[in-house]
Parts: sequence; C-alpha cells; structure tokens
Amino acid sequence: MIPRPIQHLLLATLHDAFAEWAASFTFACRRGCATCCTRSVTMTSLEGDGIMAFLSQENRSAELNGAAFFPAVNRTAQCTTNTFVDAHLRGEPPDEPESWDLRPCPFLKEESCSIYPVRPFGCRLFASLDPCAASGVAEMPPGYLAGATALLQYIEHLDNGGRWSTMVELLAGMNTGQVDAYGEPTAAIPGFLIAPEEHRLVEPLLQGLCARTVNGQTFAQWLQASRP
Ligand code: SF4
Repeated sequence: MIPRPIQHLLLATLHDAFAEWAASFTFACRRGCATCCTRSVTMTSLEGDGIMAFLSQENRSAELNGAAFFPAVNRTAQCTTNTFVDAHLRGEPPDEPESWDLRPCPFLKEESCSIYPVRPFGCRLFASLDPCAASGVAEMPPGYLAGATALLQYIEHLDNGGRWSTMVELLAGMNTGQVDAYGEPTAAIPGFLIAPEEHRLVEPLLQGLCARTVNGQTFAQWLQASRP
C-alpha cells in the first residue's frame, strides 16, 4: 500500500489537474449557489482523513458528534464507483440506492462550504452550464462527467484497503471507530465508462495527470503500485 502522506500528495495533484481541465468550461456555478450540497455526496476514507485533520486543526472535531452525523440505522450496502463501473462493464445491473438523501450537507453554513479546502472530489466535480437552483438538474458539457468519473475511480483505486460511502456516513464511522460498518471496501479500477465520442475530451485530462510526477514517480506508476 502507498504511504498515506504520498496518497495525499497524489490526491492534491489530481485536484490540480482536474481544476486546470475544468477551467476550460464556462459554468454557471457561483459562491452561495448550493443546490448540489446534499448528504448524498460520496467519498473515500482517504478524503475523510483530510477532513478529519482539517476539523481537528480548526478545533471543530466536536461537530462530528452532532446529530447530523449519527450513523444511519438501516444502512444497506452500495456499489462504490469502481464496483458500479465493473457491474456495467460485465453487463450486470449495479446495486443503486433506492433514493438519495437530498437534505443539506451538514458542512453547508450560510450557503457556503465550511470545509472548502478539503471538500471531497465528489463536491469538486459538481458543475452546471445553467443555473440549476430552479430545476435541481445540472447541465454538464459532453464528456465532462466521464472525465470526472474516471478521476473518482482513480481516487478510489489509490485508497487501496480503504472505505467508500457517503461523506456523512463515512465520517460518522471514522469518528466512532466503526468505519468498516459504514463504508464499502474500495476496489481497483476495472476499466472505464468513456464513450468513443468522449475520448477526445477526456484523454488529455487522464494522460496529462498520469504524466505528472509525485515524489519521484509518475502518477501512472503510483496507480500501478496501488494495484492490490
Ligand atoms: S462538503 Fe462543502 S461542497 Fe461538499 S456538499 Fe458539503 S457544503 Fe457542499
């Protein structure tokens, strides 16, 4: 397994590469627009570590003891991003949640994110070409979601031996020492769901990221080193 500090460096590199790629699009999202900030955001335990450290530095760890982070009683198993893609690639129906929890994220304060520097990638990828407050539906450019989903898969792959769940459930589990009960095991990349017409847009993102160097090795080499 890759040492945790290097995993965090790789995650930061991925965030940078994605932000540069996403800057080529013109989105309607603005500060104070928080339609997508719900309890359905998912993440890995690697990202959870970053949030826990940030809350500790800010003397805010007690927030995780609040009612908003009480673990769900009837939690059911879910597909992670990589097991979802794997099911699709094998032509099997993936286990999808019956409904999403669209109540506001507990970190949303006065319509702004209170953990912005360490928000999960699942938050960073949300974007819409049109204001979505009225419709509640985000309009994404062709290929954008495919590229962002591939990076979700990279993060899960890098967190080999970690857990995946909604941010709220995973933090509840990490805070109470029950992370195995509130997160699914992370899985390696089984392949990608990128349509032929999306390759032209997505490949510069993936190839550019894989060529970046982190601690003396390319991102691609670290991905290979993270295979179980
Ligand atoms: S962590 Fe921040 S960006 Fe993500 S859903 Fe919560 S408030 Fe929104």
